[in-house]
Amino acid sequence: SPTLRHPEEWSRSFSHFISQCLIKDFEARPSVTHLLEHPFIKQAHGKDIALRQQLAALIQEQHLVSLTSYRHVRINTRKTLIIESCPDDDLVNLEFLDEETIISHLHKRYDELQVYTYVGDILIALNPFQNLSIYSPQFSKLYHGVKRADNPPHIFATADAAYQGMVTFCKDQCIIISGESGAGKTESAHLIVQHLTFLGKANNRTLREKILQVNPLVEAFGNACTAINDNSSRFGKYLEMKFTPTGAVIGAKISEYLLEKSRVIKQAPGEENFHIFYYIYAGLYHQDELKTYRLPDGTPPRFVIQHCKVMQDIVSRKQYKEQFDAIQECFRNIGFTEEEVDSAYKILSAILNTGNIEFASITSQHQTDISEVPNSEALENAASLLSIGPEELQEALTSQCVVTRGETIIRSNTVDKAADVRDAMSKALYGRLFSWIVNRINSLLQPDSSGMNVGILDIFGFENFKKNSFEQLCINIANEQIQFYFNQHIFALEQMEYQSEEVDASLVEYEDNRPILDMFLQKPMGLLSLLDEESRFPQATDQTLVDKFEDNLRCKYFLIPKRVELCFGIQHYAGQVMYNVNGFLEKNRDTLPADIVVYSLMDLLSKMVVGQPHFVRCIKPNDDRQALCFCKERVMVQLRYTGILETVNIRRQGYSHRILFEDFVNRYYYLAFRAHEMPETSKENAVAILERAKLKDWVLGKTKVFLKYYHVEQLNLLLREV
Ligand code: ATP
Ligand code: MG
Repeated sequence: SPTLRHPEEWSRSFSHFISQCLIKDFEARPSVTHLLEHPFIKQAHGKDIALRQQLAALIQEQHLVSLTSYRHVRINTRKTLIIESCPDDDLVNLEFLDEETIISHLHKRYDELQVYTYVGDILIALNPFQNLSIYSPQFSKLYHGVKRADNPPHIFATADAAYQGMVTFCKDQCIIISGESGAGKTESAHLIVQHLTFLGKANNRTLREKILQVNPLVEAFGNACTAINDNSSRFGKYLEMKFTPTGAVIGAKISEYLLEKSRVIKQAPGEENFHIFYYIYAGLYHQDELKTYRLPDGTPPRFVIQHCKVMQDIVSRKQYKEQFDAIQECFRNIGFTEEEVDSAYKILSAILNTGNIEFASITSQHQTDISEVPNSEALENAASLLSIGPEELQEALTSQCVVTRGETIIRSNTVDKAADVRDAMSKALYGRLFSWIVNRINSLLQPDSSGMNVGILDIFGFENFKKNSFEQLCINIANEQIQFYFNQHIFALEQMEYQSEEVDASLVEYEDNRPILDMFLQKPMGLLSLLDEESRFPQATDQTLVDKFEDNLRCKYFLIPKRVELCFGIQHYAGQVMYNVNGFLEKNRDTLPADIVVYSLMDLLSKMVVGQPHFVRCIKPNDDRQALCFCKERVMVQLRYTGILETVNIRRQGYSHRILFEDFVNRYYYLAFRAHEMPETSKENAVAILERAKLKDWVLGKTKVFLKYYHVEQLNLLLREV
């Protein structure tokens, strides 16, 4: 076990040191004697050795050693641990609000392993790139239903606020997690689900377990190893957890957006296919079932071959097999039947076999360039797994029906065309399988009665690679929308309401991305409409598409680079991205038309707008996935484009909660009146309550009380004490 040094020798903060010990050896905990001598514990209870001892024992016993704000720890008369917040927990408390101060604060906190920081009610989460021991059930307990300022910032506190908001105000809530690839969105989403299942403690233990298994199952099919993140989400996910009005969890529903299906057939250098293909291959091999699913046991299928050139690469990786077992377990626990799981494996195997189908050119009497399938084995395997005849499949791949002037003509495909059809079929099969799994999960976890929701949005972050294609464009448009929603929520709505309520608020300037969204979405001349239009012309080429864009999109957000061909640039809110149009038309034809995609996004946004939003901004402190390495420049860029700086400003000055006088009096009248008094729901009575609660700095509008975010916490706490 690691040697513990005397407190005086600790070079960095105590918490940092302890966390290091915990990471090196999870069992190692500082002894009570060590903790007793800790300067912060001494400071909390001075000479009172007995209290110091109790405090040290409590910290040790509850595994809370990695709670990092020790200087704010004390024990109260009821022997309960009190952890007070410190002013730097919330950036809005800082005296100076320039970028440099904010960055150095985050830096200092990161070095002390305080990865979470508030900006008012928004949570900034820096990716620790190491396992922290702050997510145990003890921590869930610690964050349950307490005033936020009582504990250091934490993702559980955000989950808790959403839950309490839902129960107290009977209103749906949504947690929007954003950030670039690898910033920690998916991990954050898991932690939120973990805390919400803890809070929604239904009698039904099985249901809780089922809900916890939804994410791993869906991620096996929708995540992949990319150049940036070994477990990158290649789809957008909105998970709604369903609760009764009293807060017991009763079900869940998942919605998926824009699965990156092209990954099935091709991956960029250094990247992999969706995890499930490797899992299933290794799992079936170890169960000696490759034959059952007609998978080759020599060379691995082409779709997975990029990084796994020989069988051993896949089957010898222990974690693939373990993951396969875990996925089987998830399927079973969530309630899929054996038959359903078998069908899913058959479709996956059919896709792998389809990828192995090759085409050769033959010459017929009437037509050259007819294609046929020389390797009948792959074709037969795929057909058999899909329960169709091999001839039928071959015909579907090598020929097409064309209807001209009411006549149907069968035309043969060239080798290239047949290969395109094969790939399109593989993608479509995978897309359908994914949707089917999601729908099945939804029907298995559907609650018996209607209730309230906490929704969690985990959607791919902004992407800017060396080469960006149609997929990146879709992802970045989704991010523009989320940014717009964030701006709307934080800035625009705030300002509008001040004006309509005649409350004085100096306008805060912010970068409005509405014009960029208009450029994409306007009809008929927006970029997506133009793309759809061009996709409908059979003679269209990549060049005609670029020309069309160039002729019609005349705004400062659209750029045509001089020396690079078949490229266009977009000045996104998060920076400039160059897109290569190669394959745009084909991908747009192959997926849903761009228009429909944007509808599906609107659907997502309209869902979010009804709920009370909570924002988690994930930040990636460095590009090397290194623990304790804080790259100022990288953090600065992310803070800038997520609007954190403006947020700090507006939150500090702003009133994040506005409640109608009527609702306010109905909700809080216990604080100033007796239960039977039934006071009139007037402005005067609202003021009486505010005064009785001894709140400061609130403002009255024409119809509403304007409260700062901490007022609501204070009021709810008082209400609990009544
Ligand atoms: P993408 O957009 O590519 O899906 P993401 O934002 O969802 O990225 P994650 O997959 O959540 O990123 O995180 C990337 C990696 O960072 C994780 O696999 C994990 O190693 C690490 N990580 C993120 N958050 C935490 C955390 N709270 N504790 C420990 N490690 C973390
Ligand atoms: Mg993710």
